[in-house]
Amino acid sequence: MATPDVDLVVVGTIGIDTIITPQARRQEVLGGSASFACATASRFTRTGMVGVVGEDLPRAARARFDDLDIDLAGLQTVPGQTFRWSGEYMTNMDERRTLATELNVLEDFNPDLPATYRRAPFLFLANIGPDLQRRVLDQMTQPRFVAMDTMDLWINIQRDNLEEMIGRVDLLTLNESEARALTGVHGLPVAAERLLAMGPRYVLIKKGEHGSMLFGSDGIVLLPAYPLREVVDPTGAGDAFAGGLMGALAAGGEVTPQRLRQAMLLGTVAASFAVESFSLERLVHLTREALDERAAAYRAMLAGAV
Ligand code: AMP
Repeated sequence: MATPDVDLVVVGTIGIDTIITPQARRQEVLGGSASFACATASRFTRTGMVGVVGEDLPRAARARFDDLDIDLAGLQTVPGQTFRWSGEYMTNMDERRTLATELNVLEDFNPDLPATYRRAPFLFLANIGPDLQRRVLDQMTQPRFVAMDTMDLWINIQRDNLEEMIGRVDLLTLNESEARALTGVHGLPVAAERLLAMGPRYVLIKKGEHGSMLFGSDGIVLLPAYPLREVVDPTGAGDAFAGGLMGALAAGGEVTPQRLRQAMLLGTVAASFAVESFSLERLVHLTREALDERAAAYRAMLAGAV
């Protein structure tokens, strides 16, 4: 059967997470950067997932992706154990430490994109090793807009590969501690300048509950996080944010500074749903209507200030 075209391809991890927050602990739940990113992107546009899982991934987890209408032609299932990660959040929920990362089937992952994915106009290289990000980018025939994310692990162990990749994308998203680790600069405007000098057109720095900052040649855009009364689990917020942003951008077709700002706003709103539950629990029930409703409320809050 022919695979339908997708507008956005996302590569990243599909993992089994164990999460400890000050209030609760969840063992072996579905996570991974691609899972969160595809969950929000697919609210906006036809999204294809590229990644690998082991045969141990429960069927119910895969069914989640079907419920979300994510295209799975790029998802490989191989013998072995799925990627696993565990992390613990400190009392303020903004700070976390990784307890364990097991790459497992990711170690021998050789992405091979379906033909329909190769010609997709939008690509999001979610958090995964930069060597794998490169192998996916190399297979794309003419991507219009490419974004990438990363994490401290890759800054520490694959820095050269990572810097090479940063030079090849349009948008780099990373959180503030990663921006500081990559540049050695504490102040974010100067850190962003250094990152822009590596080649991307835009750098988007995520600041957890404090929102995000987009830097580019057309100026700086600041957005606060959507104010939630309760954050249950911040895991995946960054991936859900970038997935929502790229999904919204892909749905719009052409990329203009105005469309990018709008997409950033929708990514911010999408991320606010991700942190309302553990794993993808809230996102699997997220409708486009609920997203648009919260986006309207958020816009009204912003409009009060200008
Ligand atoms: P975030 O909270 O946005 O940083 O994303 C957390 C998700 O990323 C979790 O669901 C993990 O399974 C996944 N993850 C953790 N460490 C890594 C890593 N080094 N590379 C890729 N994905 C990771």
